Amino acid sequence: MSRIFDEDLTYGFGTRAIHAGQRPDPVSGAIMTPIYQTSTYAQDALNQHKGYEYARGKNPTREALERNLAALEGGVHGFAFGSGMGCMDSIMKLFKSGDRIVCADNLYGGTPRLFDRILVNYGLRFSYVDTRDPQHVAEAMGPDVRAIVVETPTNPLMHLTDITAVAEIGHAHNALLIVDNTFATPVFQRPLEQGADIVFHSTTKYLNGHSDMIGGAAIVRDDDLAARLQFILNSAGAVPGPFDAWLVLRGTKTLHLRMAAHDANGRAIAAFLADRLGADQVFYPGLPSHPQHELAKRQMSGFGAMISFETGSKENARAIMNRLKVFSIAESLGGVESLANHPASMTHASVPPERRAKIGITEGLIRLSVGVEDIRDLLKDLEQAMG
Ligand SMILES: *Cc1c(COP(=O)(O)O)cnc(C)c1O
Repeated sequence: MSRIFDEDLTYGFGTRAIHAGQRPDPVSGAIMTPIYQTSTYAQDALNQHKGYEYARGKNPTREALERNLAALEGGVHGFAFGSGMGCMDSIMKLFKSGDRIVCADNLYGGTPRLFDRILVNYGLRFSYVDTRDPQHVAEAMGPDVRAIVVETPTNPLMHLTDITAVAEIGHAHNALLIVDNTFATPVFQRPLEQGADIVFHSTTKYLNGHSDMIGGAAIVRDDDLAARLQFILNSAGAVPGPFDAWLVLRGTKTLHLRMAAHDANGRAIAAFLADRLGADQVFYPGLPSHPQHELAKRQMSGFGAMISFETGSKENARAIMNRLKVFSIAESLGGVESLANHPASMTHASVPPERRAKIGITEGLIRLSVGVEDIRDLLKDLEQAMG
């Protein structure tokens, strides 16, 4: 279990990003946290160890990352996992057969796949509602509901959920609020400070930021919840290796700088697309035309670089995507390089077509993860691709 030092919270975000959870190596003074590539730890004498017994439970590199992430999210305890989905699966092990979870109806595609095709077989039940209106969440609550899972902004339609409002509803019903903060990152959105109980990340995305590993994380404030998560982490063992933990730790050192650059590029590209296609064809919470722009301004301190736009048909989407040169056609998001994705056939292919149609993931929708290349080159690329 990781507990950050209290004094870390008095420092600004950038200082915490670079230092929190990390101390120069006591053996050599190495400024960077070593990659403790070990499975076990020698004891000085029987039952006399240094706090580390076996690396599934605890590893110093992973621990540095967990403390760092806790400090960035304004939490107390962080837990690193081998993937985002491994993390979500472990979070769901907090609940038991018969419990119901109320979920947003526009979650990352892999999340409902895990819920509806695997976890239902263990007696967990999931209800999906449009969480843009907190009233829908209130109506879905009941004595069997143990948690609410939302993602804000969502993937790929950039729907927002009012975290404070939904946290209040959850707490009135003794249910935990779990917020997937992968898109906004703690640079732009701070769910724990707005009432959430668990912040979830696919660290694969912005936190690592360099598209070179897969990982997940959960951050909490409550000590009892942390003890339960640590027990699940050690028992179920969906942990990352120390090298992957180290890569994320290296990534978070520049998170604040990267997010500022992503945000600037994201705004410029959203404005360009809105101008070209009409604002109603572009989904980006930073556009004044976004139906929840006021909530975005209240809840987020930046809008990021995830943008979706409607091209009208799969043929149009295909033609534009195949002409892109700087943007790569790829799944995933959040790296320094720009990516273009066709949700209906790529990231959201596992979402049943009826549900895709219901939430508005059309065949003509393209989702961009805008990187931090020179904005001139990105705009030129889109311009030539759109003809
Ligand atoms: C990628 C992603 C996940 C899943 O994480 P993995 O690291 O791919 O397992 C969950 N939520 C969101 C919003 C994501 O983008």
